[in-house]
Formats: sequence, C-alpha cells, structure tokens
Amino acid sequence: MDMNTIEAVVRTTDPGQWRDGDAWLAGGTVLFSYGSYAFGPQPLKRLLDLGAAGWTPMTVTDDGIELAATCTITELYGLPAAPETSGRAWPALDLVRACCDSFVASFKVWNMSTVGGNICTSLPAGPITSLCAGLDGTATILAPGGGSRTVPVADFITGDARNCLAPGELLRSVHLPASALSARVAFRRLSLSNLGRSGVLLIGTLDGGTSLVLTVTAATKRPVQLRFDDVPAAHHLAAALDAAIPAALYHDDIHGLPAWRRDMTYLLAEEIRAELAAPEGAPGLQISGDFWPPHALPGQAGDALLKGA
Ligand SMILES: Cc1cc2nc3c(=O)[nH]c(=O)nc-3n(C[C@H](O)[C@H](O)[C@H](O)COP(=O)(O)OP(=O)(O)OC[C@H]3O[C@@H](n4cnc5c(N)ncnc54)[C@H](O)[C@@H]3O)c2cc1C
Repeated sequence: MDMNTIEAVVRTTDPGQWRDGDAWLAGGTVLFSYGSYAFGPQPLKRLLDLGAAGWTPMTVTDDGIELAATCTITELYGLPAAPETSGRAWPALDLVRACCDSFVASFKVWNMSTVGGNICTSLPAGPITSLCAGLDGTATILAPGGGSRTVPVADFITGDARNCLAPGELLRSVHLPASALSARVAFRRLSLSNLGRSGVLLIGTLDGGTSLVLTVTAATKRPVQLRFDDVPAAHHLAAALDAAIPAALYHDDIHGLPAWRRDMTYLLAEEIRAELAAPEGAPGLQISGDFWPPHALPGQAGDALLKGA
C-alpha cells in the first residue's frame, strides 16, 4: 500500500524524537498493508524507521536469550541451530520453530517482519507473542523521556490489537529466561484451515519437573497464564480455566467462533496436562473422561459441536 500521508521517514531508535502522527516502522508488513489511517484518529505523518538500529538480533548467555525487537522471523527460526545454543540443555528451544511455523506467512512476512512488530501488533494469533509469553519473556520498553521499564510479555498485550505501550514508547527487546528455556514443554495449536491463522495456541512448561505453567493464546483476546505448583488434577485444571477465562475473553473472528475456541482450549489444555504429567517420552496420552467435554456455556455450542449438530 502506498502510504501517501507520510511526509518523512526518519531513521532513529530514539523515543525522544517521537511526536504525534508518528509510528515506529519495523518490517512494515502491517503498516504497509493496513495503511496510514488504521493507527489512530489521524493519519500517520512520519515513520520512525528501526531498519538501521543495528541491534544484535539474538544474544545468548547463561541467563537466557535476549531477542532484539528488530530480530526477523527468519533469524529467529535459525536460533535452535545456532552455535550459541548448541550443547545447552534448553528443551524449550523446540518451541521456537513450532511458533514460527504457526506464522502461516508469505515469503515477505517471513523475511521482513520482526519479533517487536509481531508483539506490538498484538493480534491474538501473534505467534511470537505466544512464544515469548509461553516462555515467561520480559519486554524492555524505552520511553520518550529517556527512561525504560520492563513488562512480562504475557501482560504486554491487553486485548485484541491493544497493548500497554504509551505513545512514543519503543519495544527494545524481549528476554527469555534460562529457567523457562530449561523446562520441559508441550505445544498445541489448532486452526480451522490447513494453512490458516491460529485459532487456539497453548504452551505448557514444566519447570523443575513439578510446577506447571500453561499459557493460552490465540483462543483469547490476550494471553492468559495459569500457574500451578504441581501438575494439577484434570478437574483442577478445568476449574482454573473456568476462573481465568470468562466467556467474553474468548476471541471472535473469522478464524474461529468463541465456543469452538473455548472447547479446544479445554481439550488442548488437558492434552498438555496429561503429556507433562506422564514421564518424558511416554507413549500415548490419557485424556481424563471427567474433563472432556467441558460443560457448554449458556447459549453456546460446545455440546452441539460434539454431537455433530
Ligand atoms: C500474509 C500475512 C499473514 C499474516 N499472518 C499473521 C499471523 O498469523 N499472526 C500475526 O500476528 N500477524 C500476521 N500478519 C500480520 C503481520 O505481518 C505480523 O504481525 C508481523 O509480525 C508484524 O511485524 P512487522 O515487523 O512487519 O511490523 P510493522 O508493520 O513494522 O509494525 C506493526 C505495528 O507495530 C509497531 N511497532 C513495530 N515495532 C515496534 C517496536 N519495536 N516498538 C513499538 N512499536 C513497534 C508499528 O508502529 C506498527 O503499529 C500477517 C500479515 C500478512 C501480510
């Protein structure tokens, strides 16, 4: 799309240069497809181009991995094979490609779009949001006044295409802690079509062999995280989902009805619970009979779907 309201493109990473009518430009795959009028009441006037930031895409240390906001999807995809991560006992690296592959994207999006652009676009089906929230990532945000703050990625997204950034704030990087990278992980994703956008994406991590963290994305308007000190019983997990996700929080768009997203969230959550409850490498999954199907919400179609109605 020709953004014909743009008067200037400024190469900068300094939030102090931001003024009304500006937008940070990363890969541009959203900006140039949504156009100038999609980002506020007034059309955009300037793009603050992060293309020359020169930030190291990925920095691996014993503490974890620092992903620059400008790291592209294709660079991130290479992370599990990078020499810096080889030899590290970080099973959660398996999630990197699973999440990148959930980004059913064109060549252009794959090569141009960025970690920061995906998180800041804040779509429920943002696969990099899923990855970084699921691995307890912490976002570092730079402010126009020169300060900075950190926010868990799971809290960064506040709704469908909404986030915690104030005007002019810049997402600098995301830190993935070694503790989460060391965890045993389970991944489940569903889409209504073969090459479709994620309708439900759940990640489970089992830290230290006991504490379970379940992160629900794509099904809900924002990430939802459940933490358990041990692997819960099936009915405890279901009760925790009931408590954490009110009906209105399930996302509703062409990629899935809320009732379907809800039913699949419960099903996949139980699959993850069962997988992580079993010894590593155990064959097959035992889905608890008192867990599935979940009770239907009033006026929703959970039971009807199961009966093939
Ligand atoms: C064919 C196609 C398929 C797609 N599929 C998906 C999908 O499955 N899931 C999904 O989530 N998206 C999808 N998208 C949308 C989009 O491509 C991605 O969200 C992409 O990751 C955006 O990254 P970008 O770097 O191109 O962002 P940009 O277009 O550069 O920026 C997007 C927004 O984020 C802001 N921004 C960017 N970087 C920063 C930063 N560091 N700090 C603060 N603000 C920033 C920009 O100002 C803008 O508002 C798809 C797009 C296309 C064209």
